[in-house]
Amino acid sequence: MRIDSIQQLRDKRIKVTPQRVAILNIMKNGGHFTGEQIYNELKKKMPSISLSTVYSTLDTLERNEILSSFEVSGMRWFESRTESHVNVFCVDKNRVIDIDMDVSWLLNELKKKGISPTKVSIVAHSTCDQRNI
Ligand SMILES: [Zn+2]
Repeated sequence: MRIDSIQQLRDKRIKVTPQRVAILNIMKNGGHFTGEQIYNELKKKMPSISLSTVYSTLDTLERNEILSSFEVSGMRWFESRTESHVNVFCVDKNRVIDIDMDVSWLLNELKKKGISPTKVSIVAHSTCDQRNI
């Protein structure tokens, strides 16, 4: 599904800026990116952009539930998926892949214990060399 980046910002009623649109355009086809990867990609089109601008833009997009992030291996990874799912950190490839898996059972178990998480981040660490990814 192709998501229109400008419409996405308008739907959340946040200002459409070139930086926000450019970041969403990089991320709209899925995948997981570190802030530095996004920064390096953006610099090709916006040479004057700073790393701190990239991170503050990513924070704004996450706060508005357009993106989500999680930390693994000392790095913060960003992705356009915002619903709870399982991320696998490929320790041999230093990248992250999504595993589509129903995690509602976990949310239900937490709820039974009186915990209502605002965010659930599940990261499995694995080698991914056997998988064709
Ligand atoms: Zn993911």
